[in-house]
Amino acid sequence: NNKLSLKNINVKYGESLALKSINLDIYKGEFVVLLGSSGAGKSTLLRTINQLNPLTSGELDFFDLGKIRNKKDLQNLRKKTGMIFQQHQLIERNTVFQNVLTGRLGFHSLLRSILPLPKFDQELALDCIDRVNLLDKALVKVKELSGGQQQRVGIARALAQNPSLILADEPIASLDPKTSHQVLSMLKDICKKDNISALTSLHQVDFAKEYGDRIIGLSHGKIVFNGKSDQLSDEI
Ligand code: ADP
Ligand code: ADP
Repeated sequence: NNKLSLKNINVKYGESLALKSINLDIYKGEFVVLLGSSGAGKSTLLRTINQLNPLTSGELDFFDLGKIRNKKDLQNLRKKTGMIFQQHQLIERNTVFQNVLTGRLGFHSLLRSILPLPKFDQELALDCIDRVNLLDKALVKVKELSGGQQQRVGIARALAQNPSLILADEPIASLDPKTSHQVLSMLKDICKKDNISALTSLHQVDFAKEYGDRIIGLSHGKIVFNGKSDQLSDEI
């Protein structure tokens, strides 16, 4: 199975439907942009894929794991999914290296580890930091970095999971245009190189057109567009 499939997914908050009959396939190595205005349901859709938000009904098939049926499947799905957030959600008083190791080991195991960390994990974390060009900042505290550098640490932390899929929730929303281009092109290049699938939510049509192999337009919890960027009119 070389794709992620969302089949007829509905998500409710109380009585209100935030996602309505979502059907969507994302293929191995595809860089897909989820485009929609505020409140469209982008965040809910991303969080439904790794079930930080439970789905009300519907089904998920996740690459080699196939259909997600139980807790064990869900744990495996989460292990293979890296997440990037708008406000990066890094621990600012910790170093780049510590933050990226957290992605590798999970937060609790890092807190518990008084023993020296396994060499493998340290090397993998450094390799991920290298891939986002921040090796010279590895031992610098995150709070001392620029917004663009912080978001690159977020990318490195996601990579440390050795993911099949990266979910990025408005990763450029708090960056200036120039930095936004740097971060998005770096994310896309890394995904292409490593054959990682990505679903990245954005609210800017121009960025979506430039970076999306395919664009999914979301409005009021429904998919209203699914196609290549040249088929997208500017009004969406
Ligand atoms: P987007 O990411 O596109 O801005 P969201 O997924 O955050 O959209 O929100 C989609 C809809 O669901 C909005 O109407 C929002 O108000 C609602 N919503 C989001 N999170 C919750 C929540 N935890 N409880 C209730 N309603 C929510
Ligand atoms: P429990 O009943 O102990 O909570 P389940 O095995 O029913 O455990 O579900 C565990 C998790 O897997 C839940 O978060 C649920 O949302 C998710 N899940 C169950 N079935 C599916 C499915 N078909 N597709 C996606 N997620 C599912």
